[in-house]
Amino acid sequence: MKEAKKIPYKIYLEESEMPKEWYNVRADMKNKPAPLLNPGTLEPMTFEELRGVFCDELVRQELDDTTPYFEIPQEIQDFYKMYRPSPLVRAYCLEEALQTPAKIYYKFEGNNTSGSHKLNSAIAQAYYAKKQGLKGVTTETGAGQWGTALSMACAYLGLDCQVYMVKCSYEQKPFRREVMRTYGANVTPSPSETTNVGRKILAEHPGTSGSLGCAISEAVEAAVSQDGYRYVLGSVLSQVLLHQSVIGLETKAALDKYGITPDVIIGCAGGGSNLGGLISPFMGEKLRGEKDYQIIAVEPASCPSITRGRYAYDFCDTGMVCPLAKMYTLGSGFIPSPNHAGGLRYHGMSSVLSQLYDDKLMEAISIEQTAVFDAATKFARIEGILPAPESSHAIKAAMDEAMKCKETGEEKTIVFGLTGTGYFDMVAYEKFNNGEMTDYIPSDDDLAKGFAGLPEV
Ligand SMILES: *Cc1c(COP(=O)(O)O)cnc(C)c1O
Repeated sequence: MKEAKKIPYKIYLEESEMPKEWYNVRADMKNKPAPLLNPGTLEPMTFEELRGVFCDELVRQELDDTTPYFEIPQEIQDFYKMYRPSPLVRAYCLEEALQTPAKIYYKFEGNNTSGSHKLNSAIAQAYYAKKQGLKGVTTETGAGQWGTALSMACAYLGLDCQVYMVKCSYEQKPFRREVMRTYGANVTPSPSETTNVGRKILAEHPGTSGSLGCAISEAVEAAVSQDGYRYVLGSVLSQVLLHQSVIGLETKAALDKYGITPDVIIGCAGGGSNLGGLISPFMGEKLRGEKDYQIIAVEPASCPSITRGRYAYDFCDTGMVCPLAKMYTLGSGFIPSPNHAGGLRYHGMSSVLSQLYDDKLMEAISIEQTAVFDAATKFARIEGILPAPESSHAIKAAMDEAMKCKETGEEKTIVFGLTGTGYFDMVAYEKFNNGEMTDYIPSDDDLAKGFAGLPEV
């Protein structure tokens, strides 16, 4: 018989221990993230300008760099209780399989029907839209997780939900689409003929399979051209990182219960919301000089916005209708090569994380997709959970860190974010299982094309 394990396989929190406030890491940043700019005047976007597109309370949250805590409205706390706290799992089986002295934990956000962490912000955004008396919201979705999460939140609150879904996913993932429709959402493949910007993009690029940037442009246009509608976004924005801080706050509360202090915290990075949320309370301690942690963002080698991007003002969308954000970016015209299967395909990165990275408060690495799917497959067989390809970037990085500990004998504590499940990504898994998945790392010339489209600010 082996020794009894002192830390449980899953650390849960009691309802009474769940966070009652979100934490705004910007309040503790000395160098604040750069403000959103009006693309016409190049002046910082004002509350009045932003409220035409976003809900009032969300604009307040977006513009607030100083308030450290925001109360989570009781209705949202109650909704969270239906699927949270999410478990913090001690990966005993993975540690055993890797024969590593490292202690590995993951925070699993895939235990709700939408299958990812995105529901944490979807319910918050839908709640503020409802409270403002709006009829509905519009949004874009790429792989489909955000659209699903928003559909669930809108169904719960009785709001109309219009989703522009990147055309290639709309066609590749019909079941994602049907989940959204089952929750009552209206789903349109993007680019579409239903908006001016969609028609323009179709005229310039006939037969295009779409991109997140196009879908954002269409969703924004749909919001501003209908009475009683606003646009909502599932990542990148500072308000989304604020809502996602619930992940980090729960993680920290669970670790604190057992007196555990992590050494390394790892998360995958698309637009930065799960990573920003997971690291928030830890980064807060780091910024206040109370503790130090190694924090690692992991991105695909085929869409390397932090590791190879420019830190510059850029458009958030292809149609250039959105405000300019200062971020690590590959240029709003960048589209990952067609063989890219693993999500995390946005061209830019959250302004908050971009500033933290520029201030050397976190690190970033990129990984090729075959290595990511190899780690995903190992993880599924060892820990039982079928991970989302996005999440598997963090798995691979955590496994690599654990293997370094094996060499050095260090008993580091590694925490990573397991953001979701991979049930709707079986086309990508199929490619991997058939040995047909390939890697593509963009050349400097490929990237130069994206940089050439950066606006002059
Ligand atoms: C959307 C998504 C991501 C990436 O988005 P971030 O905003 O960077 O967190 C990662 N994992 C899953 C499962 C997702 O659905």
